[in-house]
Amino acid sequence: MTTDKPSTLEEEYFVREDAERIRKLHYDELRRMAQSEREALRALHKGRCAECGAQLVPELVGEVKIQHCPNCGGTFLDKRAWQYLQSHAEPHSVMNAILNWFKSANKP
Ligand SMILES: [Zn+2]
Repeated sequence: MTTDKPSTLEEEYFVREDAERIRKLHYDELRRMAQSEREALRALHKGRCAECGAQLVPELVGEVKIQHCPNCGGTFLDKRAWQYLQSHAEPHSVMNAILNWFKSANKP
């Protein structure tokens, strides 16, 4: 995953296309996997960084609990943390835009 900001409309288009393709793969995988496979994956990856696999460290940032990776510097926000940010975000802020994206990305 990259965190580079797309610089052109064309790049933004391809980033969105990639996200949509990967989202479809995710749902295909969920349909294909047995419950036992999903539970085995969860047990293997729970509390681990999605980028480097290191053990995540829970940290309290204000009133939000985040999971921080001391190895690569990545951060994971669970659904509860996102919901907190969503309910406390300033209107028209960059965070609001991110939260709006998150809301639409997590619709079934
Ligand atoms: Zn990491």
